[in-house]
Amino acid sequence: MTAAIYLARFHLSVAVLDDNTGRARSIPMSHNHAGFPEGISGEELLCRMQSQAVKYGAEIFHGKVDELGKVDGTFVARLGDTLVEGRAVLVATGTANRRPAMPPEEHDEAVARGLLRYCPVCDGFEVTDKPVAVIGSGSRGFKEAMFLRGYTKDLTLFVPESDLTAGEIGRLKDVGIRVEQGPITSIVLGQDTISLATATGVEAFASVYPALGSDARSELAAGLGARLSDEGCILVDDHQRTSVPGVYAAGDVVIGLDQISSAMGQAGVAATTMRNDLSEKVALIR
Ligand SMILES: Cc1cc2nc3c(=O)[nH]c(=O)nc-3n(C[C@H](O)[C@H](O)[C@H](O)COP(=O)(O)OP(=O)(O)OC[C@H]3O[C@@H](n4cnc5c(N)ncnc54)[C@H](O)[C@@H]3O)c2cc1C
Repeated sequence: MTAAIYLARFHLSVAVLDDNTGRARSIPMSHNHAGFPEGISGEELLCRMQSQAVKYGAEIFHGKVDELGKVDGTFVARLGDTLVEGRAVLVATGTANRRPAMPPEEHDEAVARGLLRYCPVCDGFEVTDKPVAVIGSGSRGFKEAMFLRGYTKDLTLFVPESDLTAGEIGRLKDVGIRVEQGPITSIVLGQDTISLATATGVEAFASVYPALGSDARSELAAGLGARLSDEGCILVDDHQRTSVPGVYAAGDVVIGLDQISSAMGQAGVAATTMRNDLSEKVALIR
């Protein structure tokens, strides 16, 4: 949406193709996004950005892009029966968090109520001094727990696969983080708590942070031949250009701090680069 606002204000014709499944939409209330001292929900932020983009002429298509290709020098995206063409493409398809085993509706309810959280950088502040659990194995779980220790001392790391090193176990112990090894058998939502059950018992927490990794939604860019990192993120240069001419990328799908602020910053850079690269091929004059 940030790129669409920029591009529309460059007097370019812009189509935003969105299947409404992004991470921004799932933010119940963001308190770290600058300019909103009382906080803003992801839904409200997107709604405001969309109306700003539409005000300057961007066209919004709601639906999943099933295919993105290039025909005779023009990019073509297919959403069901609809084809949308463009001279350049920005891929800002985000990333998907790996979820703990629970029914999707319960999962979404837990996220909406702040019982499940995915972004300590964003909302660790909200669990200050509260009982918190992290679910995660290996260095991923270790790092998330150590990060959250900056907010609360009542912290338990649940390690489904027992693969922490002796050094990691020692450091967790030194800072007072409890470690529970073994799989979680169920997750139950309560009034104001979320409970995790293991072979040794059931414990309630104010919030649980799954640290199970994520999967970059880079398949459309990969289909065009864009180079990816080992983790599947789209590789870009300093101006958000991918390895494919005319294809740009921004946001969580690119390596970086997975935050709204960095997605917006990259989108501003990408949109301006798109405009300037296009102007080398066609005169952008009125
Ligand atoms: C629970 C939660 C809370 C968070 N809280 C904060 C916070 O407080 N502050 C903060 O800065 N960050 C927060 N984040 C992180 C933030 O949501 C992301 O960093 C941000 O949304 C990245 O923006 P993006 O545009 O790259 O990706 P997304 O917001 O994920 O958007 C990707 C878009 O691509 C679309 N898309 C993907 N594939 C297709 C396809 N094939 N066809 C059509 N459309 C497609 C999706 O529908 C979506 O609109 C939070 C994340 C989560 C999960």
